[in-house]
Amino acid sequence: MRTPLIAGNWKMNGSASLVEDFGHAFTDTALPASLDVLILPPFPYLDAARRAFDGTPLKLGAQTLNPLHSGARTGEVSGRMLKEFGVEYALVGHSERRQLYRENDEAVHDRLLAALSADITPILCVGETLEERDAGRTMEVVLRQVGHVMARLEPEQRPRVVIAYEPVWAIGTGRTATAEQAQQVMAAIREYQASFDRDLASGMRLLYGGSMNANNAAELLSQPDIDGGLVGGASLKVDDFLAICQSAG
Ligand code: PEP
Repeated sequence: MRTPLIAGNWKMNGSASLVEDFGHAFTDTALPASLDVLILPPFPYLDAARRAFDGTPLKLGAQTLNPLHSGARTGEVSGRMLKEFGVEYALVGHSERRQLYRENDEAVHDRLLAALSADITPILCVGETLEERDAGRTMEVVLRQVGHVMARLEPEQRPRVVIAYEPVWAIGTGRTATAEQAQQVMAAIREYQASFDRDLASGMRLLYGGSMNANNAAELLSQPDIDGGLVGGASLKVDDFLAICQSAG
């Protein structure tokens, strides 16, 4: 019922030739029939990616966006601009943005609204730090991050959001949440959505992120509340990323 989604977040990595490699690799390879696959390259590669991915199942995403449509915001990129380059999804609230660029829940909310208004599907990233997990605060932190955004949306906006649960301690560390740990938090996120609307909860796509790779993807993706993955490091290797996509069938 929920179409799985595998999203490759290249962060500030990749190259023009990697874009080409992905275009070639995904041209002739069979993927599960019902699967959305997304690459989120750095901004300068979007146009080349749009051309290289033409004729493949690969869709395009952006790693962030500014809340405004245009204006005096040196260095920033708006949703409207991204849309012109074929971007269909955008991350908001990635933990690296929250930590390194001081984006708080309010800033995340503003970016999510900007994505919706540009007709881009926002992927809202949430997750606890190791300190918060050890203090037994995982659910409180994650549901606060989800609630800060979801509670303020109009009912018709909520089904347009994808949520990625990414425990901060698992991102880029090689340390993956166990399938049970991930499932527990993601079931709680889905249950929280049910407080708005049961149909919303059962239709909403929830992704797991945090050191997902070709070896652990199948087990994570077999959990009932995990509908896909947000993949960092392993999305930079064509074969690994293809293997993850194939295990999402
Ligand atoms: C991410 O950047 O969202 C991520 C999950 O990275 P990694 O897969 O490298 O942990």
